[in-house]
Amino acid sequence: MKAIPEIIVKQKEYFKSGKTKSVAFRISILKALKEELEANEQAVFNALKLDFKKSEFETYLSEYSMVMSQLNLVIKNLKKWAKPQRVSSSLLLFPAHSFIYKEPYGSVLIISPWNYPFILALEPLILAIAAGNTVVLKPSELTENTSRLISNLVKNVFPEGLATSIVGGVDVATALLNQRWDYIFFTGSVSVGKIIAQAAAKHLTPVTLELGGKSPCIIDDTVDLKLTAKRVVWGKFLNAGQTCIAPDYILVKKQIKADFTKALIEEIKQAYGNDIKASEDFPRIINEKNTQRLANMLNQETISFGGEIDKTTCYIAPTLLDNPDLDSPVMQEEIFGPILPILTFETEQDIESVISQYEKPLAFYVFSNNKAFSKGLIERFSFGGGVINDTLMHFGNDKLPFGGVGFSGMGNYHGKFGFDTFSHHKAIVNRKNWIDPPVRYAPYQGKLKWLKLFFKYFT
Ligand code: NAD
Repeated sequence: MKAIPEIIVKQKEYFKSGKTKSVAFRISILKALKEELEANEQAVFNALKLDFKKSEFETYLSEYSMVMSQLNLVIKNLKKWAKPQRVSSSLLLFPAHSFIYKEPYGSVLIISPWNYPFILALEPLILAIAAGNTVVLKPSELTENTSRLISNLVKNVFPEGLATSIVGGVDVATALLNQRWDYIFFTGSVSVGKIIAQAAAKHLTPVTLELGGKSPCIIDDTVDLKLTAKRVVWGKFLNAGQTCIAPDYILVKKQIKADFTKALIEEIKQAYGNDIKASEDFPRIINEKNTQRLANMLNQETISFGGEIDKTTCYIAPTLLDNPDLDSPVMQEEIFGPILPILTFETEQDIESVISQYEKPLAFYVFSNNKAFSKGLIERFSFGGGVINDTLMHFGNDKLPFGGVGFSGMGNYHGKFGFDTFSHHKAIVNRKNWIDPPVRYAPYQGKLKWLKLFFKYFT
């Protein structure tokens, strides 16, 4: 691998050559990426299975198919998105035409995490390239197999001056952050997000931070218990709970807690069988360190289901915790694993007093057939995005921006929102010369009343 400064010089030269300004070129290279990914579908499945025993079904559903649908969407719409967008001009500008030009920033750095190692690396890469930037991608060091595969795929498709993927850990990330970038896109933890923001501030580099947090899931007593439990179990235990938008904890109406817990247990067994460890569909924790971190969360808690841990194989069973204290470790940090605390509420004030303990979450879920209840909660709290009567599904709609707020992140992406994230929006007014109303020019004497009339009637 070349030294990092050398790669950056190469990318800056590539950008300067103007090649990436051509939308036709961008489309052709994204089509080449699509072909490469199609040819490597099985390799993607294999890499994720090796990294954390993720099933082919889950890899297809939550990683591969989503990357392919982003690629298709971008290839189909890029010409339209990249065209200068005409907007109306105010009368004050008359006569004129106004436009928003979408301009690439230049050199983009993307740093991605391990939990969805394929999509969280490739989707930003696709959108940054679509917007005409060059990219250095640093996938996570914890998913060795997927990250190596990604680096090879990128190498097979892109000239190094346009995009390259560098596998490495904190040392490589730090070396990359010491360089000057035109945009930084980071997905990962809040603590590293702060390091990224500090590094970006040195050069006033714009940054998107896709972070995490404790995402609540509120369930009132109007719900269909079986359907709700099924959707919660799916959203929580997909990827063994290692999902940034997984429900972190449940807040259920007190009088249905026992029945709801029973329904959750039935759905867990329905999904993964009685011998969950032997299930082909339940992934492992990414490494021993995280297994130990999660195991510590179970100390001194009341376990209503699960709790089995095998540190040698990084297995933690889907686990339900009964009413942990808000001061306990499991309620102090983002869980990011297959542990689901079940807390209760009686009044909306109880909900408020739990949620207000935490920073603004990345996701928010409410299950209720009472429209006023769910609408009230959605409007009262600030969070990245959410779903009424399901979990995770907002991630799957590329017509919706995906991102956090406050400690759960800044900025957003997906589809056109992602193209816009990686584009500077340049405002252009094209004034016409055939008439030049004299009001704005000095001397101003006697003109103020005309100006006031203009603002009164035309703005
Ligand atoms: P992490 O922050 O530890 O690592 C993310 C990336 O940052 C990795 O590539 C890593 O090598 C790099 N990194 C680690 N330490 C660094 C440092 N000191 N300086 C520079 N770079 C450094 O996160 P993770 O453990 O890979 O992922 C888990 C976290 O990511 C969770 O908090 C989760 O909620 C969040 N997440 C958010 C989203 C989202 O879309 N908002 C998606 C997935 C994960």
